[in-house]
Amino acid sequence: MPQVLIIGGGLAGAAAATWLARDGHEVQLLERERGPHDKVCGEFLSFEAQDELRALGIDLAALGAVPIETVAVERRQSRGATPLAFTGLSLSRRVLDEAVLAGAAAAGARIQRGIRATTLRRSGAGWKVGTDAGETLWAPDLFLATGKHDLRGWRRPPGPQPDMIGFKMYWRLADSRSLERTVELHLFPSGYAGLQMVEGDRANLCLVIHKAAFTAMGGRWEALLAHLRETCPGLAARLSGATPWHARPLAIAAIPYGLVQRQSEGVWRLGDQAAVIPSFTGEGMSLALHSARQAATFFTAGRRAEAYQQRLARDLSGQVRRSTLLSRALVAPFPQAAIGGMLHPTLMRWMLRATRIPAGARTGGKAGMLSPRGSG
Ligand SMILES: Cc1cc2nc3c(=O)[nH]c(=O)nc-3n(C[C@H](O)[C@H](O)[C@H](O)COP(=O)(O)OP(=O)(O)OC[C@H]3O[C@@H](n4cnc5c(N)ncnc54)[C@H](O)[C@@H]3O)c2cc1C
Repeated sequence: MPQVLIIGGGLAGAAAATWLARDGHEVQLLERERGPHDKVCGEFLSFEAQDELRALGIDLAALGAVPIETVAVERRQSRGATPLAFTGLSLSRRVLDEAVLAGAAAAGARIQRGIRATTLRRSGAGWKVGTDAGETLWAPDLFLATGKHDLRGWRRPPGPQPDMIGFKMYWRLADSRSLERTVELHLFPSGYAGLQMVEGDRANLCLVIHKAAFTAMGGRWEALLAHLRETCPGLAARLSGATPWHARPLAIAAIPYGLVQRQSEGVWRLGDQAAVIPSFTGEGMSLALHSARQAATFFTAGRRAEAYQQRLARDLSGQVRRSTLLSRALVAPFPQAAIGGMLHPTLMRWMLRATRIPAGARTGGKAGMLSPRGSG
């Protein structure tokens, strides 16, 4: 019987498994995918995410991550660009998530692939989990790290910006050299799209759009691409002569942007199950990794799940709230036009700062996100 059962082997689940196993806990992790897989993600690794991955022993350069030094924002004909305050990195989730899972296994966690949790309920002093393999597992402590996917009976509330859907598609660009070391954010009516290179000479186009706007296009990817080409001249130029890697994009509906879970109900909620920050910030992975480390620290210190959840919510709610306000402005016609007219490096730098995890909440920070103080 494991002491801790983790559902989901994305970054949050795998990172928590690593920290807990390193602390000497017996950990079992269920991941529904049998092997490496793609995810809807812009794949931009912020400074904070890189820091967390380094602490887990992940060598991003050895995995093929490519550097990102500049952020450019475009709306129609306007373009503003500013250097990042750090060197970002870009690496496919197919490679990254596998590396972190392998690290968890090496630390001693028992990883079970190709098993999907289907039910979760309280049972005695612990949790009973049913799986699609017909098994029932029991553990005293349960970490929920299913990311974008909600377990039946454990649906997350919608969050303040609940009406966006996301798409991701890799492209081989006719000219990839001129995109190197840059992440581009293209604003278009009802949405925004990120474009950057990942390893293997592929460009990752990842975008979000209002569900209603996509429905008005007949819910067709081809119509959405035509809309992007028509409204984003810079993106149209990038995609001119480009070939897609797959016939269809990956898609995700009903993203609960802005959600911060304050109640735990006894479960340790990690990553996107704990908080969902709008994608343009490129901070979702860093938040997932932080939550995993913080949860493991609280758990090892003998604290309760509620105490962890409340601390995480307190530390991250300002950042998530500011980012969600900006995200709403980026997709609403008038605010978007105003932002598009002010693509000044100073404003862009302010936007970047406002959407980062506060230093005090990070590892080694004064408020000590990782210090499990107080009772709970
Ligand atoms: C459009 C878009 C663009 C983004 N771009 C970026 C970016 O550029 N940079 C960034 O840092 N963040 C970005 N993010 C956010 C980032 O993708 C997430 O915050 C991050 O993946 C959360 O990690 P996680 O481990 O919580 O969840 P996930 O990565 O979703 O992992 C969850 C895992 O659980 C497994 N699982 C699900 N259900 C079950 C089940 N029932 N049983 C067993 N296993 C299960 C899944 O297979 C998956 O492997 C973006 C998000 C979106 C939507």
